[in-house]
Amino acid sequence: MRVQFLVDSSQRSFGAMFQKSLKEDLLVFLYPTPAPRTFHTFFCPPLRMIALGEQGEALFDQVIQPARLVRLPACKIVLECDPKTEFSSYVESILSVAHGFKFPQSAAWEASSGVDALLFALFAQAMADLRRVRSANPDGVSREVLRKRFNLWERGRFASSAGFIMDFPDLYNLPEMALEVSRDLIQVESPYLDELLAAAIGNMPWRNVFPGICVRCGCAARWKSALSAPPETAPEIAWRYQRPENAVPLCRACTMTLGYLTKPVLRIDLAWGLWGKRFEALWSWHKALAWGNLTQWDKLAYPLWPQEYGGESWESGSGALEHATPRLPNGVARTAQHDEIFWRALSEKGVRKRTLTAAHLQALVAPIPEPLHP
Ligand SMILES: [Zn+2]
Repeated sequence: MRVQFLVDSSQRSFGAMFQKSLKEDLLVFLYPTPAPRTFHTFFCPPLRMIALGEQGEALFDQVIQPARLVRLPACKIVLECDPKTEFSSYVESILSVAHGFKFPQSAAWEASSGVDALLFALFAQAMADLRRVRSANPDGVSREVLRKRFNLWERGRFASSAGFIMDFPDLYNLPEMALEVSRDLIQVESPYLDELLAAAIGNMPWRNVFPGICVRCGCAARWKSALSAPPETAPEIAWRYQRPENAVPLCRACTMTLGYLTKPVLRIDLAWGLWGKRFEALWSWHKALAWGNLTQWDKLAYPLWPQEYGGESWESGSGALEHATPRLPNGVARTAQHDEIFWRALSEKGVRKRTLTAAHLQALVAPIPEPLHP
């Protein structure tokens, strides 16, 4: 266990931000005076937040999911740690440090806090989002208009902006419009709210950023989807079929030669071979959806698919928040079986061996083994 004391405003404003997990760390936020405090978990892993009283008693103790604002009771000491961390044995020494700590005298101590600046930036962003929603829906918010005018990840951001405004109506002087649009938006989007918030992270566009190089021949290519959504799937759920894990870059000629568009099994083999464990996780979600036995799961912590469908890491197929940003398949966990499936699918209509060891393919995946039947 590593106990870190954060005692000045810049240290405190960073806290657990941009960390994957606090596994071994106990963050201790010390303040010169007791006061109610607003903490946020934007860009933070899920974490346990504890507000300690003068005698070390817990005034607040909860596990907070990412991207939340948390209001803490008046206190001078706040702890953050991994949800599973047992911290009670450290409380006594934390108290002795806290009570003996000499804070430097500075009038600007609390006012220039980085958290306030960040909150204001979030507030300004939320207002801009709500203005866009209103100008697209001048006669009241409608799902049809939202579906037509905005991408899912944008709708996810709008919903989180609306939630932010509604949770903190007295944070700044809000125009009436902001609360009204927020209320309407949350109501209209409520059937798919968690899906949209998941899409705000998981459905970020990637097709124009990823290199378009055919896996079979190295020519200019487009990323083509493998699995398609069961009929009648709501677009608010079907965004996962636009994930890179469900796509393979193929040029027009190779698409024709392989018959990619007309052979569902070949499509699965190529995506499976290319994306290994990550495709398997997406595939599990797809099968559960298609068979109607998909159960509810925590989509804010696991936007892509339920925790049990993948491993713990990006490489092993985790659908967790910190692994949801679209990435190229390099380094994904692939076994000899994946290599074999991939090789067989790629060479179905004949392909020269050197093509498969060429730089364009090496740039995308781990080395391909010797072909079984050259
Ligand atoms: Zn090609």
